[in-house]
Amino acid sequence: MDPMREPTHARCAISSCGWCEQDGVDCRFCSGTGWWRPEQPHRDGSGVIVWLRVDEPCRGCAGTGKEHSPTAAH
Ligand SMILES: [Zn+2]
Ligand SMILES: [Zn+2]
Repeated sequence: MDPMREPTHARCAISSCGWCEQDGVDCRFCSGTGWWRPEQPHRDGSGVIVWLRVDEPCRGCAGTGKEHSPTAAH
């Protein structure tokens, strides 16, 4: 079960963002998918902490899948 593999946004919130204009530079946090999969703690019925994997739009690229870091090396 892998519901969404497409970036959620074609562009980020910045109008005329220079990073969004570029093509072919994948976000290094999500490898260009626009998604990341952190684990969140969850206490189950018996009080045991388990870690659940969740899907969230990538914060490194605002879900665009495009590199948005000025420190990225080329
Ligand atoms: Zn952008
Ligand atoms: Zn990303």
